[in-house]
Amino acid sequence: MAAKRDYYEILGVTKDADAAAIKSAYKKQAIKFHPDKNPGDKGAEEKFKEAAEAYGVLSDQTKKAQYDRFGHAGMNGGGGFGGSGGGGAQGFSNFEDIFSSFGDIFGGGGGGGRQQRRSGPPRGSDLQIQLTLTLKEIATGVTKKIQLKRHGKCKTCDGAGGTGKQTCATCAGQGQVRRVQNSFFGQVVNVTTCPDCNGQGQQIKTPCKDCHGQGRVQEEVMIPIEIPAGVEEGQYLTMRGEGHRGPNGGGAGDLIVVLHEAKDAHFERHGLDLHSEAVIPFTTAALGGTIRVPTLDGEVELKIPAGTPSEKLMRLRGKGLPELHGGVEGHLYVKVRVHVPEKLGKREEELLKELQALTDEAAKKGSDKGTGKSKMFFCL
Ligand SMILES: [Zn+2]
Ligand SMILES: [Zn+2]
Repeated sequence: MAAKRDYYEILGVTKDADAAAIKSAYKKQAIKFHPDKNPGDKGAEEKFKEAAEAYGVLSDQTKKAQYDRFGHAGMNGGGGFGGSGGGGAQGFSNFEDIFSSFGDIFGGGGGGGRQQRRSGPPRGSDLQIQLTLTLKEIATGVTKKIQLKRHGKCKTCDGAGGTGKQTCATCAGQGQVRRVQNSFFGQVVNVTTCPDCNGQGQQIKTPCKDCHGQGRVQEEVMIPIEIPAGVEEGQYLTMRGEGHRGPNGGGAGDLIVVLHEAKDAHFERHGLDLHSEAVIPFTTAALGGTIRVPTLDGEVELKIPAGTPSEKLMRLRGKGLPELHGGVEGHLYVKVRVHVPEKLGKREEELLKELQALTDEAAKKGSDKGTGKSKMFFCL
């Protein structure tokens, strides 16, 4: 697939364009490249779909925010995500949605092809779930099996809703109902899709007993959700077609998986880096030594150099989190805290007193030698 164009560029708006500007820019594009105006022109059709996809994202506050932060990479959780729906199919379900929500911007009635697209059975609604991951799962990526309750295809009638067809009585087979409304601008004829046949103009003669003609029933399914390594709090994945199935054979909505990060007992996350703390005895700080510290993939040894001051940050290269979609890896920073014992054993006290005497002597000698620091000390 060729590199995707920037959604703002497609619609010809700037990043700070408001909802109204985005909508009007999309209308312009949609009218210009509409298939009915450009019959058989593949280029125009592509542009039309491209604009629809861009509008699908930029008109949805959550999706827009995601796109602004992560670009195309953020849109479906990264490359191979998004269930079975490839680029084309995905563009099309968006396009139908937007088309129907725009109602009559192309001037209601007329144009057979257009009418059919507009009057298809509605797509099912999206499902949203929240998923909390541990830092360890975020570091490696993980596949989670999730139990979902949703509207699925009725198995008894294979989604057909029943057998036989008859003309819809509500719309007399037109698929649309017209209503005259009084508005601020005067009388407006409002044409909407017939609610009883969902624009099909026909109804099922003998509805299926299990789904009452809807073609869908409640189902409980287990879905594996593959989460790539390096995700962050608040990011989400879109699994195309894993949401509710629409009534009367309408397509399925999407499953939106919102990701959360569980609090960790050891580590605090700062972007790709992790921060933790380790307490070391003051003798180790002075003499140097090796301690064991936890990382996301088990304990490792950390060398403490002699003369390590308290609060010193030690870095464990590459022991942080990977960047989403690979490449860069963060580090683990361990803040070393020097522990001073509150109570001393007899022998410890003796040794420390001896040490104190030595330190005092060294300080005096130091002052005789005249190193800048100790001189200052004694002057004060
Ligand atoms: Zn009808
Ligand atoms: Zn059924």
